[in-house]
Amino acid sequence: MPFASLLVDRIPIYPVSSIVAVMMDQEIVDRISSIVGDKGFSASKAYTYAYSFDASIYHGKADMVIQPRDVKQVSEIMCIAYEHRIPVTPRGSGTGLCGSAIPLKGGIVMDMSRMNHIERISVEDLLCVVQPGVVYEDLNRALEPYGFFFPPSPGSGEACQVGGMVALNASGMRAVKYGATRDYVLGLTFVKANGDIVHAGSGTLKDSSGYQLARLMVGSEGTLGIITEVILRITPRPKTSAMALLAFDELETAGEFVAALIAEPLIPSSLELMDNVSIDAVNKAMGNPLPDCMALCMVEVDGEPEMVEKELITVERVARKAGAQEVELSHDRKVMNSWTSSRKSVMTALSSLRPGYSSVSLADDMVLPISKIPVAVKAFQEISSRHGVILATYGHAADGNLHTKMLIDARDREQWLAAERTAREIFQTTIRLGGSVSGEHGVGISKVPDFMGERSTAISTMAEIKRAMDPYNILNPGKLFQWERESSLYGLRYPCEPR
Ligand SMILES: Cc1cc2nc3c(=O)[nH]c(=O)nc-3n(C[C@H](O)[C@H](O)[C@H](O)COP(=O)(O)OP(=O)(O)OC[C@H]3O[C@@H](n4cnc5c(N)ncnc54)[C@H](O)[C@@H]3O)c2cc1C
Repeated sequence: MPFASLLVDRIPIYPVSSIVAVMMDQEIVDRISSIVGDKGFSASKAYTYAYSFDASIYHGKADMVIQPRDVKQVSEIMCIAYEHRIPVTPRGSGTGLCGSAIPLKGGIVMDMSRMNHIERISVEDLLCVVQPGVVYEDLNRALEPYGFFFPPSPGSGEACQVGGMVALNASGMRAVKYGATRDYVLGLTFVKANGDIVHAGSGTLKDSSGYQLARLMVGSEGTLGIITEVILRITPRPKTSAMALLAFDELETAGEFVAALIAEPLIPSSLELMDNVSIDAVNKAMGNPLPDCMALCMVEVDGEPEMVEKELITVERVARKAGAQEVELSHDRKVMNSWTSSRKSVMTALSSLRPGYSSVSLADDMVLPISKIPVAVKAFQEISSRHGVILATYGHAADGNLHTKMLIDARDREQWLAAERTAREIFQTTIRLGGSVSGEHGVGISKVPDFMGERSTAISTMAEIKRAMDPYNILNPGKLFQWERESSLYGLRYPCEPR
């Protein structure tokens, strides 16, 4: 019996038919209504349909959507869910790419977007306290007048919520210098499956008092508890920044430049890599803002003005030595913003590259030792061309995080199967090179089989923690190590499931 099935057998999962019956019970509906009010929940077809999807390729079936306003409401709802074994999937803005917020087993989707207050900004303590539904960019807009920021910068920052970022340990372009969400979580409050409210961590910069429970919640993908408040460390904004746009005639050479720059040593504030498929997509969608070449690197350096100048000179020297064909430097905020927004638009631009084709996230977020980037990008290209799949590779190369998107005709079952074979080989190659299946998007549904292979010795301990904190398996069931199938193509929102 596969490892996955053993774990699933030991963590109960309730039949969807009985959940539907429970959710329609008038007494339960009345109790929910008395907690969140008539406007705080809905079981309408339109609502439950809309909340059955996220930004991934999957869908589920929500039976009820609840929008709590405070921790007390979350706790009271969880007490009902615990009593009646109703699955609860917490949800931020639904921008996750791996299916983490999909209600796979039905039940309640707990939408956290109404808990969106910034409760305290305390720059002298280097922290802020926020509710989970605060949107990333809104928080940074509030911190800006103080000269501070919360740096992780996911590409979805205009939409995604702090709670979703913590639950996935999100990060982005600046992680190489400023770290990921986990590096900023000082403390948090969460509600357990049985409704208990837990305050973990503290409002201090250091804390060596016992188990680091706040850290345990980071990356838990809604499977251990519902985060209702987060204490985040904040950091001063850099005084200035500058960027270099570097064009290469081979993807591998660009990868070699990345490793050479870090070894210099120079830690840029961001270093983005784009291959020719990504460049072509952006140029077609946005009217040629980028040089036409096989690979691009965008390097940003920030800090004190003198240091920025020195580092920019180093970037140019290392790039030329590595074989860059074109080097463009800029201090102009407008130019730099346009380069950054070209890079950020890769994912959406890819979907309009070929009529009838969509970009799909299956192997979307591998992270590797930086020195392995050149060999990894070459291997990914070889794998995709062997399977006849168009692959775009881009990402935060300086922290070893590569995104790949496959372009397929999503109506064609054979293309899905080829995409899945490509994904499996890309993950296996990543693991063989000492990397991991996810750098920032999480495991969700799409990476479960590969995640279980990669972390084989840690999985049983994760399952023990899950059983201790959520004995009836009501929190986001079916995710992480609980996927019941060999293929990650089941539950697709497209009509192409393997038979
Ligand atoms: C265009 C685009 C670009 C992106 N770029 C990046 C990027 O650069 N870096 C990156 O890391 N990600 C990126 N993402 C993925 C995604 O946006 C982020 O991971 C983001 O953090 C998800 O936040 P969300 O609020 O949308 O969470 P959701 O997708 O709603 O949920 C994600 C997970 O968090 C759980 N969750 C949400 N809120 C809570 C809570 N309060 N308590 C407990 N669990 C909770 C959910 O159950 C789910 O498991 C991108 C996505 C898109 C569409």
